[in-house]
Amino acid sequence: MTDHSMPSMPSMHSIHCILPPHMLEHIARTGDDTQRERALQALATDNTQRSRRITRSFTTVAPAMPVTTPHKQRHVHDLNHGTNLPGTLVRSEGQAATGDAEVDEAYDGAGATFDMFWAAYSRNSIDNAGMPLISSAHYSTQYNNAFWNGAQMTYGDGDGVYFNRFTASVDVIGHEMTHGITAYQANLEYHDQPGALNESISDVFGSLVKQFSRSTKQTAAQADWLIGQGLFTSKVNGVALRSMKAPGTAYDDQHLGKDPQPAHMNNFVHTTSDNGGVHINSGIPNHAFYLLATALGGYAWEKAGRIWYVTLCDPRLAPTARFQDFANLTVANAATLFGPAVQQATIDAWAAVGISSSLQPPKISGQWALHYDWGVTGRFNQVPITFNADGTFTGGGNGQWQQKDGTLMLHWNTGPAIYSGSLDGDIGSGAMTTFAGSDGSWYLYRQGNVGLVPPTLEEETTQHLDAMGNPVTVGAGAAGAAGAAG
Ligand SMILES: [Zn+2]
Repeated sequence: MTDHSMPSMPSMHSIHCILPPHMLEHIARTGDDTQRERALQALATDNTQRSRRITRSFTTVAPAMPVTTPHKQRHVHDLNHGTNLPGTLVRSEGQAATGDAEVDEAYDGAGATFDMFWAAYSRNSIDNAGMPLISSAHYSTQYNNAFWNGAQMTYGDGDGVYFNRFTASVDVIGHEMTHGITAYQANLEYHDQPGALNESISDVFGSLVKQFSRSTKQTAAQADWLIGQGLFTSKVNGVALRSMKAPGTAYDDQHLGKDPQPAHMNNFVHTTSDNGGVHINSGIPNHAFYLLATALGGYAWEKAGRIWYVTLCDPRLAPTARFQDFANLTVANAATLFGPAVQQATIDAWAAVGISSSLQPPKISGQWALHYDWGVTGRFNQVPITFNADGTFTGGGNGQWQQKDGTLMLHWNTGPAIYSGSLDGDIGSGAMTTFAGSDGSWYLYRQGNVGLVPPTLEEETTQHLDAMGNPVTVGAGAAGAAGAAG
């Protein structure tokens, strides 16, 4: 091995590489001594992080004040084959080209990525607050990878045998910067399905950067939908690292192996390598995006890209989201942004890769707190309530829930009350009635049983109702209602 050292980076950050380990492992098995050493060196860089199977990323970064004018500030450093990031600053915003192709491509690619996100989505840099774009070129010696480490982009020269310099493909630069944006938005965990979504989102916007930055912008029909086209030397039998148009066909080479990406859930790859196949199963959402973009036609960043971007920024997208969760949100957002025809196209694109997304946002599930207030009594109570997947709820009495067209309805098994209202993310609210004049209001919020506020009981002579709408005796009876409900 070499004296290769880890790049300096905050330990909480995971390193997101453009190349999957299986490709480098193949070189390590089949290459000569030098090639093996280079491949192992590249693998070593992310090994420590990769062994951390569950990636907890950033503690939340306080967002800076968004600014309304774009703040593009690039800084490119030259590591001169060292590994202590970021290296020597060689080109800052507005400065002339250096003549070093890797430095200048890193500069131009960061600019192209910034410009696409600003023009298409009014996003002001990685953090949407004008964060400087830091890049480092010439990482280590003949390093076969590019990565985002939570703070900056870093590029290797490639070994010159199988790989050219990693700045040669602008979509690779867009891919790495998008990892930064994802960290600031959905913060998708970098393993298994959320990790494959994280990878796919980087491929999607990396490809859009390429389509947008051409001197003549490319439509979805004109784009090649390849990721990393130009990275391979002529020695390699392959066109790119990945193909969104035809996952699994990007390369088939004696030294690099065969592109393992599936295009459909039927071929989902269950593996523990590559953080649970994050660079492999990303082929499935990649292909769904390609299908939607080409079905809609025109510039892909305008509709399909906007649906994906809004979904990436949607607070309902959890860090643990799976393909199904992401698909459901794109379907919901497609309707909001572009109406029923585009929504149907989005449903169709996901269906073609084996994911049937519902027209509705994700159904209510898990533990919530129900706060109810019968208007006639001016009194309130809070009870825990658990929504089960079979349509029942338990906790604050037992009953049935229904969710349709944005309306949530609760019917108790005992008691006359019917609750109806709407649910938006983690908050629901609405009205209830017993159809006997004892109407009131309610709200729900997501949580466990912790933190429930017990009702304040007062002496009262008017009728008091429990959550089910049943009369209870004031005092001990009211306490009993809360107890029975809990
Ligand atoms: Zn990546």
